[in-house]
Amino acid sequence: MTVARSFSGTAQRHVVVIGAGAVGSATAVECLRAGLRVTVVEPGEPGGTQATSYGNAGWLSSHSVIPPALPGAWRKVPGWLADPLGPLAVRWRYLPQALPWLLRYLASGWTEARVQRTADALRTLLGDAPALHQRLAAEAGVPQLIEQRGLLQVYRSREELAGDALGWRVRARVGVRWEEWDAAELRRREPDLDPRYKLGIFVAEAGHCRNPGAYVAALAQHALDAGAVRVAARATGFSIEGGRLRAVLTEAGEIACDGAAICAGARSGPLAVAAGSPVPLETERGYHVVVPTAKVGPRTPTMAADGKLIVHWMDGGLRAAGQVEIGGLRAAPDWHRAQILLRHLQSMFPTLPPEAEAQQWLGHRPSMPDGLPCIGPAGASTDVVLAFGHGHVGLGGSARTGRLVAQLLAGVAPETALAPFDPARFS
Ligand SMILES: Cc1cc2nc3c(=O)[nH]c(=O)nc-3n(C[C@H](O)[C@H](O)[C@H](O)COP(=O)(O)OP(=O)(O)OC[C@H]3O[C@@H](n4cnc5c(N)ncnc54)[C@H](O)[C@@H]3O)c2cc1C
Repeated sequence: MTVARSFSGTAQRHVVVIGAGAVGSATAVECLRAGLRVTVVEPGEPGGTQATSYGNAGWLSSHSVIPPALPGAWRKVPGWLADPLGPLAVRWRYLPQALPWLLRYLASGWTEARVQRTADALRTLLGDAPALHQRLAAEAGVPQLIEQRGLLQVYRSREELAGDALGWRVRARVGVRWEEWDAAELRRREPDLDPRYKLGIFVAEAGHCRNPGAYVAALAQHALDAGAVRVAARATGFSIEGGRLRAVLTEAGEIACDGAAICAGARSGPLAVAAGSPVPLETERGYHVVVPTAKVGPRTPTMAADGKLIVHWMDGGLRAAGQVEIGGLRAAPDWHRAQILLRHLQSMFPTLPPEAEAQQWLGHRPSMPDGLPCIGPAGASTDVVLAFGHGHVGLGGSARTGRLVAQLLAGVAPETALAPFDPARFS
């Protein structure tokens, strides 16, 4: 089946998709499928290093429904911050700006009931992420990039696992099932893993992307092949008259259109304001290291509970991704955070050569304080749809998000409830 023939319908309503990361590229594909005419506005290469979608850990984790802040998290924060190898860092000069967001973030996970509400909503976004991505990747001609071989979380002791009990309890209630591997089974399945890990939780339903940057680039190309037009410029605002969208404003001029989707990831804030929806978007900066020469590593994509990093083979080498750094969009990378990942990686797989050469990357997670993205109409015009703020799960959540945004822009009833993601929940 050729790419162009995979879509049907007449091009009528013209929509502009702003940003070609995972969310924007999936949105462009789904808008074309819905019969809309599409222009993609993206200043960089789709799926390029500037996009957070480029360098993430590749998890299509249908079970990642637990918000980052949990009851009692505030008690752990000082310890994490004091630990030079810890998973959390704050740029102190940025703290006054981030503080209101951080307080909301901690409050959103204050009780188990709140965590459950977030999990119920995220499950609607992520529950069938592996299947949706397999389908998109096949259509875009890159089926080999999406694997569904399960994901593994490893713990050093039963006490450490007990520390995550709330998360697993909530996951069970939304229908996630898993296998528990004891030390012997873990050794058998993961012979290169350091023996300090004594327990594994294996979630068979979850999937993985072998090269998120290439996958997003393929989706964007798929949209272009099917008739989308690309404008290589930055969007700066909107022309809205009487509640109707007339044009998207860009550095390269105005683009007349009937609808638009804001999919600019962590840089969506000013565009949301221009569309009448000021929302508390912050960035949780994260890093990766890739060891191209690695010969040992995990058989299953693995997250270590102690270092809070995800490790797996990608096209190009062994990748470790993680860390949360609160420091805004403008601060220079702190490559020490990437070196922490490399040290954890080497301690997880002790036969990796200690001097292993690693490539490093910084990305900006687009994060809302309640752990849920904004997907829904803007305050100034329902012709503009917000689609950003996916935090730690934007690759996985992009496929369903693209479908929902296309349904909103095409005037079709959304296939799953959008109330939990309503941008107006913060007003
Ligand atoms: C270390 C790390 C590990 C992660 N691991 C995972 C994981 O395993 N699984 C998972 O699901 N998620 C993971 N994430 C989160 C995930 O990467 C993000 O949630 C997701 O990439 C966000 O996608 P996006 O399309 O919204 O934004 P982006 O990928 O950042 O794309 C936004 C695009 O918009 C463009 N843009 C910006 N401003 C404008 C403008 N004004 N006009 C036009 N275009 C503009 C940018 O150039 C960019 O290309 C991880 C993140 C990090 C940092």
